[in-house]
Amino acid sequence: MPDTSINQQLINFIRRSPTPFHATRELARHLSDGGFIQLHESERWQLEAGGRYLVIRNDSSIIAFTLGNADISETGFRMVGAHTDSPCLRVKPEPQTLKQGYIQLGVEVYGGALLNPWFDRDLSIAGRISYRDSKRNLGNVLIDFEEPVAVIPSLAIHLDREANTARSINAQQHLPPVLMQADDDNSIDFRTFLLELARQQYPDLDIEAVLDFELSLYDCQPPTLIGLNQEFIASARLDNLLSCFVGLKAMLDADTHQPGLLVCNDHEEVGSASASGADGPFLKSVLERICPDSESLARCIDRSWLISADNAHGIHPNYIDMHDANHGPLLNKGPVIKTNANQRYATNSETAGLFRFLCEQSSVPVQSFVVRSDLACGSTIGPLTASTIGVRTLDIGVPTFAMHSIREMGGAEDTQYLYEALKAFFAYSVT
Ligand SMILES: [Zn+2]
Repeated sequence: MPDTSINQQLINFIRRSPTPFHATRELARHLSDGGFIQLHESERWQLEAGGRYLVIRNDSSIIAFTLGNADISETGFRMVGAHTDSPCLRVKPEPQTLKQGYIQLGVEVYGGALLNPWFDRDLSIAGRISYRDSKRNLGNVLIDFEEPVAVIPSLAIHLDREANTARSINAQQHLPPVLMQADDDNSIDFRTFLLELARQQYPDLDIEAVLDFELSLYDCQPPTLIGLNQEFIASARLDNLLSCFVGLKAMLDADTHQPGLLVCNDHEEVGSASASGADGPFLKSVLERICPDSESLARCIDRSWLISADNAHGIHPNYIDMHDANHGPLLNKGPVIKTNANQRYATNSETAGLFRFLCEQSSVPVQSFVVRSDLACGSTIGPLTASTIGVRTLDIGVPTFAMHSIREMGGAEDTQYLYEALKAFFAYSVT
């Protein structure tokens, strides 16, 4: 059994990352501690051989890269891609409503969330606010209520006898969480709560007014190891903070001079088409600045490989028919190579061959997934990045249960397996 202590670090990372903004900040903090220097897209870059750099866009997507001493167009990059966002409930711009003396928040569903598990949870709120100070300067800060401040109570079964057989959820009607009780004549302004919290969390900033916000609800229950032998990990946002964290750690720990790159994009769960998403120009723009002439850029990309790491569906013992009989990945049996003939995954035989080779060299078991031929296949950042950049790409991920639930579940050993495989990838060079 491999060492599973990496999970404690993963748990700490997820706890500190309730939103893509916080995840990006956490990734940047680890990278800075590892000697990476932050570059700003608006400034002129002076890249040095052997340098380690990070770039952030929209506070929610991040690219980190290391330059070796050799010519980058001769080596290419070993790239790992993942995404910082997860399905959740987003607070609407004018959220507060008062019904029966309860202050509630209007919410929008972000991404393909499984909605049932959001009921009866101790929810908190976090995200980014944009503010004005007393000198009319504008700024952004991340906030987090940290404590449970909201809940979406279920309707009692006595009032819905069909709840276990035919329950359906109307997102507009049934999801607004309860925040507090108030008298009818109380006019509550949600922005005032945000202002108070922001001032409390940033006492040194002169925050005069909250202008706008992007806030999500999240479950306060911390991630944990679970099972009689603690062989599983249960947490929110395993999809895809697990891959972000493991990619980060593998890059930091890889003992290599081979140029490496980690890209963690926002907006995967809603299609990736945004300035900071994988279907946008962020990675391309960074690569063009590393290789300013088109000849060296094309050569660099042709010598590069991208592993797109995003979780896979483990075969569920209560629903075994939902998998192809020969392609039912098991928890704790290693990362899964995801393949789709219709290019919903970017894996091809060459990239899968490299991954199998790396796993073999690192004693990491590897599994395969292809969706049942009569079901639609999901997708991820792999095919989008491959088609935007033109890099040879592989889609993999650890097997999990309950993908897109507020509480997902993976195998504790798979975190370490993925780490070993990605570390070997970052060190891979063609001799
Ligand atoms: Zn995902």
